[in-house]
Amino acid sequence: MEKKIDWTVFLFILGYHVLLIVFLQIYIFSKGLPSKEILYSFLILFIATGISITAGYHRFYSHKSYRANKLLESILLFFGTLALQGSVISWAHGHRLHHSHVDTEKDPYCIKKGFLFAHVVWLFYLPEPIKKEVVSDLYQKKYLRFQHKYYNLLAVSLNVFLALSLGFLFGDVFGGFVFLLLFRIFATHHTTWFINSLAHTWGKQSFSKELSAVDNYIIALLTFGEGYHNFHHTFPTDYRNGIKWYHFDPTKWLIWISSKIGLVKGYSKVNNKIIYERIKSEEKLHVLH
Ligand SMILES: [Zn+2]
Ligand SMILES: [Zn+2]
Repeated sequence: MEKKIDWTVFLFILGYHVLLIVFLQIYIFSKGLPSKEILYSFLILFIATGISITAGYHRFYSHKSYRANKLLESILLFFGTLALQGSVISWAHGHRLHHSHVDTEKDPYCIKKGFLFAHVVWLFYLPEPIKKEVVSDLYQKKYLRFQHKYYNLLAVSLNVFLALSLGFLFGDVFGGFVFLLLFRIFATHHTTWFINSLAHTWGKQSFSKELSAVDNYIIALLTFGEGYHNFHHTFPTDYRNGIKWYHFDPTKWLIWISSKIGLVKGYSKVNNKIIYERIKSEEKLHVLH
């Protein structure tokens, strides 16, 4: 079936890239580097929105790998909305299809269609209509239905308001627009998109060699720990992606620390013996091949 272009998304993504290229140069040539306040606000917003996608949209809503209390869920939902990656319901719908049909025609960001397709081009097409049975648990929540219905309005107005008011507060509205809005959206988008492109291309397959997903610590550095993607595709309900203590997985650390201070009431973790047996059986299979 011929796929139709999603002009709103296409023009939005193209538009903010063009605006960023133009206004970043104008800013640097006319004012130099932004103030410390703008840079720190950029970092805080970048981390808060990025980790709300990995800990919130991904590991909490899509995989239910832990139970967050209402306070933590509200924070993740607020900053996740700011990440401009669609509603929880549509994000989780696409992601659950990605897991159940990975590397096939039904995978929304199938890497077999090319690196750029999995990175961004898939977003330029209208998505499959949402099958309610795939996200029935999320549809039951009224506030998620509300976020889904008014997503564009909520996300755009909150982003513009927050970036410009912070810029105003620090006496640099133009800096707020360039760094806290355009550049931050660019950074959050591409780091998340790397999970679908780079983390299905460049790395090791210790747990499932038949899947395109790979483990790569450099990608983990760029994606708040989601670079251990071969493990994640093999054991998607585990709250961790990097399983060793030294694996860079700040999303896992956030969930673990939250469980110690009562914001998380429990998480799911695959038994070490099962993981070890899986690695051994993959090695044997590989030798047999
Ligand atoms: Zn994947
Ligand atoms: Zn996943």
